[in-house]
Amino acid sequence: MKTVSLPDLPYDYKALEPVISAETLRRHHDKHHLAYVNGTNAALEKLNKYQSEGGEIDIKAVLRDLSFNYNGHKLHDIFWKIMRPPQENNEPNDRLKSILAAEFASWESFMKEFSAAAVAVEGSGWAMLSKTADGLAINQVEKHNALCLAGSQAILVLDVWEHAYYLDYQNDRKTYVEKWWQVVNWEEVAKRLG
Ligand code: MN
Repeated sequence: MKTVSLPDLPYDYKALEPVISAETLRRHHDKHHLAYVNGTNAALEKLNKYQSEGGEIDIKAVLRDLSFNYNGHKLHDIFWKIMRPPQENNEPNDRLKSILAAEFASWESFMKEFSAAAVAVEGSGWAMLSKTADGLAINQVEKHNALCLAGSQAILVLDVWEHAYYLDYQNDRKTYVEKWWQVVNWEEVAKRLG
């Protein structure tokens, strides 16, 4: 695996206001995401040294760090891309709606299940729409890396770590999740779905 770097946001810090404040976005991208990039590279450096020079290493701890930080980096990279400035009545086009309806009974029941999953994540984590070999599924991710579905691709992700919403919504994760639908970039989601 190669070292990773912090991607630029695809919009400015104010772009998602009032749903997500500039201050939240700045800290989230510049501090938290950066920490996962640095954590990934630190783990990779230890592994590279171990591979080339040998010596002792706490392999379990290093691989755990790599999983946590690399997943943190990749999830945030997707998260920035699947958002855009808020829009009224922000909904996917008919084609995407019908794909979601075919898997989740209706477009409304997809929204309901995804929101419920996000609100109910235990501690820090994510709600995720995954494309598996057997169709679409909603799953919760604890931290950045537990409860993922093997072999699946993340299509739509929602960060429900407190750092994602606490400045704007305090402990009201439910309202954050409700408002967040206004900033989903459905064109990008459709693209990821293929
Ligand atoms: Mn985050």
